[in-house]
Amino acid sequence: MRYCKRCVLPDTKPGVIFDEEGICSACRSVECKHEIDWPARAAKLRKICDDIRGTNGNGYDCIVPVSGGKDSFNQAYIMSKVYNLRVLCVVVVPHLQTVEGIENLNLLVEKLGVDLIKISTRPSTLQKIRRSALLKVGNPNYAEHRVVFAAVARAAYFYNTPLVVWGEDIGVEFGGNVTTSSAEDGSAQELINNDLFREAGFDDLIKDVVSDDELFFYRNPEIETIGQKNIRSIYLGYYHWWDGIKHFHVAKSFGFEQRRLGPLPGNVLDFDNIDEKLCEVHLWLKFLKLGFWRPTDHCCYKIWNGYMSREEAVEKVNAVQYDFPAYLDEFLEYHQLTETEFFECVERFRNHDIWHKKNGHWRLKYELT
Ligand SMILES: [Zn+2]
Repeated sequence: MRYCKRCVLPDTKPGVIFDEEGICSACRSVECKHEIDWPARAAKLRKICDDIRGTNGNGYDCIVPVSGGKDSFNQAYIMSKVYNLRVLCVVVVPHLQTVEGIENLNLLVEKLGVDLIKISTRPSTLQKIRRSALLKVGNPNYAEHRVVFAAVARAAYFYNTPLVVWGEDIGVEFGGNVTTSSAEDGSAQELINNDLFREAGFDDLIKDVVSDDELFFYRNPEIETIGQKNIRSIYLGYYHWWDGIKHFHVAKSFGFEQRRLGPLPGNVLDFDNIDEKLCEVHLWLKFLKLGFWRPTDHCCYKIWNGYMSREEAVEKVNAVQYDFPAYLDEFLEYHQLTETEFFECVERFRNHDIWHKKNGHWRLKYELT
């Protein structure tokens, strides 16, 4: 396990490549971002918006998938206020929302003058798929990711919306795998093939777990059908420099609230992923598998966007990365697991190449320095 010499990302991250100078591909892609002609990219997006504005009769021009977080707040703001599109926001309602998450989402609708449809999938199905994804591959949020992508595609199809605007391509922004179409013109058509889904096939996870008639919102409409309707799907991060900290300030100018009790355990920021409760334990499982989680993500992000030095990041990551994640009780109850069952399950995913026991405690073999 090696760490990038410029940020603090380890080489255990799937898709990341280190060059001969010990710099990771995410840092190299930040260098490339400085070379991009951003005004020209924004002009391209304006052209796309001008071409589609009003083409859907009195319907919506564009769908923006939202969570109530800072990034989707910014997406909805850009598309409705900067490009003057008639925006329909779509949220797949998390099953364990936080108060901040609910209030920030309400604020988005009120302040940005957009409409919102809420898709609430039945808890019994989601619970079963999450439990299966946790036990089989240690990736419970797989189920939510699946619903978000498929349900938004369904909504676009249903409302004949010519444009769907996603946020960032995680492969581009966080140093993972990038599809050719995303790199060339910001197309998100291949989103379902991104890194969130590489670990396992959906059909393997749901086999003997749920029946097919529960899965409408988990299955994408056929690509051909979407093509016939001429629905275009893009990443806003291709056209506008993606900077989560800046997005927070945009959202805050409308009254967006950060987490009232400060950063969650293991977190560095108090305004990232604060809208629901099940993703904390999910994210922490990455620590067992890959040797890093939230604090590394937060600090890398700050380094890439010029808000933090590597020294400061090393200190922050080492200070909080061994914290145990919040909301374990809620997580156990949701997945109907006892604490013993949970720890037996997650220990199966601990990567012994990078972990060892030191004075009776699990520690990384290769600490960040
Ligand atoms: Zn790096």
